[in-house]
Amino acid sequence: SNPLNPFRKIKEDIHQFVQLKEKEIDELKKMEAFRKEFIADVSHELKTPIFAAQGFVHTLLDGAVKDKSVRTRFLKKAAKSLDGLDLLVQDLLTLSQIETGEIKMHFEDFDIRRLTEEVFDQFENKAEKKKLDMSFEPGIPDEVIVHGDWKRINQVMTNLISNAVKYSGEKSKVRVNFIPEGEFVEIVVSDTGEGIPEKDVKRIFERFYRVDKSRSREKGGTGLGLAIVKHIMEGHNTKVDVRSTVGKGSEFRFKLKAGEEHHALDEV
Ligand code: ADP
Repeated sequence: SNPLNPFRKIKEDIHQFVQLKEKEIDELKKMEAFRKEFIADVSHELKTPIFAAQGFVHTLLDGAVKDKSVRTRFLKKAAKSLDGLDLLVQDLLTLSQIETGEIKMHFEDFDIRRLTEEVFDQFENKAEKKKLDMSFEPGIPDEVIVHGDWKRINQVMTNLISNAVKYSGEKSKVRVNFIPEGEFVEIVVSDTGEGIPEKDVKRIFERFYRVDKSRSREKGGTGLGLAIVKHIMEGHNTKVDVRSTVGKGSEFRFKLKAGEEHHALDEV
């Protein structure tokens, strides 16, 4: 036998070990870069509402505004900025909790039609103001049982319907449809609103990505809604598909496992 063999083996082991460590260092560098970018983004996003509120409050403190109605208007604007800040921090917390796996998904069977009805109720006022026609696609069953995390899917439907309402002009249609597909149910949220330019569609799930920053902010958007949706979908081993045409509208689709239907009569 070759007496050099044991050394060759050791050399190979060392080489392999070094390669493994190099890979780990690469990963850590990537994570570090991601973290830095994230902190830069977040700081920037926090600054905007803080600056706005600061501006109004300091102007009022300086006492330069004599007109009472103008003072009230400034206070309202400061309050709006602070509300936006609150929403942003809430969304950031949700996103980070989902990303770090702090929130364990809790799977159960539930009726997604009823869940959606509750979300519709939440947006009734806004929809009415814009004279939107918001409803289910005709012909869907009275009960649509799916398997998923109720609380998280509630957030997904809230974010998608909120966007459909936000980015649609007067008298647009907002529709939700449930399409059974074997052991799955496909959920479709569509609108006949402003649509998304083709070059932006693939980026809208990135955190803080907005087609029109000032427009999104003005409508109370945090730029995190769809990033949260994407993460929740990953937690359900599924993803969201988007189709959109500028001036025509948008359509968001995702699939969930169908749940066991609950037949009260069977149990008698
Ligand atoms: P935001 O808080 O800005 O609404 P989202 O992550 O929910 O953030 O959405 C990202 C961007 O995608 C929005 O700023 C908007 O430009 C675009 N978008 C999302 N949904 C729709 C929709 N239904 N119609 C048109 N544009 C949309």
